[in-house]
Amino acid sequence: MCNYRTQGRQVNRVYLKTFGCRTNIYDSQIMAQNLKDFVLVGSEEEADIVVVNSCTVTNSADSSARSYISGLQKKGKRVVLAGCGAISKGETLFKEEKVFGVFGHSEKGNINTLLKSETPFFAPGDLESLDETIVEDFSSRSKAFIKIQEGCDFNCSYCIIPSVRGRARSQEERKILDQIARLAGNGYGEFVLTGTNIGSYGKDTGSSIATLLKRISVIRGVRRIRLGSLEPVQIDDAFMELLEEPWLEKHLHIALQHTSEAMLIRMRRRNALQRDLALFEKIADKGFALGTDFIVGHPGESETIWQEALENFRLFPITHLHAFTYSRREGTHAAMMKESVNGRVAKARMKLLETIVSENNFAFRKGHARGLEVLVEERKGAYQVGYDQYYNRVFITSPLDLEKEWVTIPEAEARTEGNYATMAQ
Ligand code: SF4
Repeated sequence: MCNYRTQGRQVNRVYLKTFGCRTNIYDSQIMAQNLKDFVLVGSEEEADIVVVNSCTVTNSADSSARSYISGLQKKGKRVVLAGCGAISKGETLFKEEKVFGVFGHSEKGNINTLLKSETPFFAPGDLESLDETIVEDFSSRSKAFIKIQEGCDFNCSYCIIPSVRGRARSQEERKILDQIARLAGNGYGEFVLTGTNIGSYGKDTGSSIATLLKRISVIRGVRRIRLGSLEPVQIDDAFMELLEEPWLEKHLHIALQHTSEAMLIRMRRRNALQRDLALFEKIADKGFALGTDFIVGHPGESETIWQEALENFRLFPITHLHAFTYSRREGTHAAMMKESVNGRVAKARMKLLETIVSENNFAFRKGHARGLEVLVEERKGAYQVGYDQYYNRVFITSPLDLEKEWVTIPEAEARTEGNYATMAQ
């Protein structure tokens, strides 16, 4: 182990702070694996260098990273900015000397060399590369995240992601399968496929997400596959045929973003209301829990449009929701639109959607409380907690140590905040 000194100061302890999505969790794991000459520590306090793997999807994500960075500066830490914020805000923060270094997505594999630098560095990299590093272990996690692609070719009005992660490109199939085989050999049974727009997997290589899933499913040790967010238009017949497979989590997250036809057009979405509704009903009929993303308060969401959207929304069998209030991002189409929605109004609308989905979720859990297959992830107070096959949390009371174990719950009690179960042996 080498110790690097700057102005007489040892700088060999690194803390990786991750903001944002599953893709970022994965990217942090790539960074960790490449930190050969540094000691990875568990908190800012213990660290000499803090690498901020940032998110830039909303204004509030930007300001969280900014205020976190100011806090670190006050504590005298060396701050290095990575992640999506490195592309959108990196140059400004670097010029303002708020950060010691900046590196973009394509430079993650060089983190070890970059962090040794005695002088400030700005390395945004490119938006075409794919990760070379294969992650073989996810310390402290019971499930493994696999990044199968990077970037997005959609052009949604409000979204900055394509300009910070680049166009859609698929990871080589052989690499993905090798990585999963190694992780399964290390004891991982649940695999979460992530990326910027995973449903576009294979479009550039003549494959598809359905083909990839089938190949992953036959790897020895793979017990459950969970998918990140899919776009409705990407769900084709080949994918629908997989819904009977026991290895596919009985929960899909399909991003609607809105349920007014007029708003979907304005948001430059590729999905359409009636097709979405038919798709959700079909998948729910097969016993699936369904999650979605929804943006409230996008410019042009008038009261009339909102009421129509709300009425439509109630028709969807949605059990899990990621709702966001619209956040203006410079450089997007929506940033130029004038008819903005008052922030308080948008929050109230979002609350309504959340209430509907939390009622749906409770009703769903009451009807799906038997035979729950739970991968226990952590301890929380008196409970051991994990997710079942419908992506609902289960709180288990047991004298046994169940962490990282798969357990079958014959029958759970559905309460408003989650499912509860007791396991005596
Ligand atoms: S599909 Fe739309 S919202 Fe999702 S990353 Fe691509 S542009 Fe952004």
